[in-house]
Amino acid sequence: MNREEFPILGQQIYHRPLVYLDNAATTHKPQVVIDALCNYYETINSNIHRGVHYLSQLATSEFELTRKCVQQFIHATHDYEIIFTRGATEAINLVAASFGRTYIHEGDEIIVSEMEHHSNIVPWQFLCEDRGAVLRVIPMNDEGVLDLTAYERLFTPKTKIVAVAHISNALGTINEVGKLIKVAHEHQVPVMLDGAQAVAHEPVDVQALDCDFYCFSGHKMYAPMGVGVMYGKERWLNEMKPYQGGGEMISSVTFEKTTYNELPFKFEAGTPSVGDVIGLRKAIEYMQGIGIERIRAHEEALLGYTTEALSNIEGIRFIGTAPRKAAVISFLIGDTHPYDVGVLLDHQGVAVRTGHHCAQPVMNHFRIPGTIRASFALYNTQEEADILIQAIKKAQSMLQ
Ligand code: PMP
Repeated sequence: MNREEFPILGQQIYHRPLVYLDNAATTHKPQVVIDALCNYYETINSNIHRGVHYLSQLATSEFELTRKCVQQFIHATHDYEIIFTRGATEAINLVAASFGRTYIHEGDEIIVSEMEHHSNIVPWQFLCEDRGAVLRVIPMNDEGVLDLTAYERLFTPKTKIVAVAHISNALGTINEVGKLIKVAHEHQVPVMLDGAQAVAHEPVDVQALDCDFYCFSGHKMYAPMGVGVMYGKERWLNEMKPYQGGGEMISSVTFEKTTYNELPFKFEAGTPSVGDVIGLRKAIEYMQGIGIERIRAHEEALLGYTTEALSNIEGIRFIGTAPRKAAVISFLIGDTHPYDVGVLLDHQGVAVRTGHHCAQPVMNHFRIPGTIRASFALYNTQEEADILIQAIKKAQSMLQ
């Protein structure tokens, strides 16, 4: 699907066509996104919001158009609920820091899950350290599915927020976020979803989900690196204290007292990555041009086909076998080390990721050092899945 629109995929690696299956780490960019970046620096580049001159106003309107585009893409109620960040990590840090400064006190409890990316663990640990709060963890079973009964039991009157992945990057599990949110709301507890692995693969509707915060990165959804989004319900954003201080986020500054700007600017201190933000809009328009449902169906077909073929390989062990999975396949081959398999695949032109995928608690659960992870995007093909399968067989025979 549309592979030729991604120039980087035309390359040969070690004299073989590149088979790029590391999309959970980052996706490649279609020509329209690359062109938008070049066009920004060739014809627009200016600082936004403060300028009276033509280019500054043009940059501002392009930037703000993207906010509206993201609003519509994730079905937020208002455009000022969309806060631009550098990526999912910064967005989660923003929620943890701002929500934490405003609502978390000593003895309060924060719920995360066992399958979180480190980006959705460490910011909450910082907060716990600063505030004397406590982290509670939703356990998962050996399929990589969260235990909802155990989850319900974690709630106490001290629970202040739940932060959980929409889709796991290490396992591919699509979490039952609707149920997780419903339970939390029954306890009047807000929920932050880490959508880093979801936005490029699933339609996301923050109003239908009724999540309180939703965080994601542009670079995993065909947009440039350096831009991400923190969506928050107006109610929370109005009450929350800002995360970073600096230009743009203030209304007035004296040495005695500073007052803050209105939403969304209150949370956007300093000069943002304007070109990357514009690139994000082009990436969203690009995906919408194809259709998110079509992308999902295509990736689901690749997941089914590849999983089935791989399951015939002797000694393969899948890590993450949830009934509802995104197109992420984590696995091990016999007792070979994931790194060795990764290197042998690389030399056959197949790019996969090996290691703990920034989810060490997941690896601890399965008592393994890491996995080999193949993850698909809209441009991957069945032929590439076949090359992966053959390359794994070859690697296996070399390592035995
Ligand atoms: N959460 C999840 C589930 C992820 O997969 C990632 C990226 N691997 C992140 C958060 C962090 O994203 P970024 O590095 O783009 O900030």
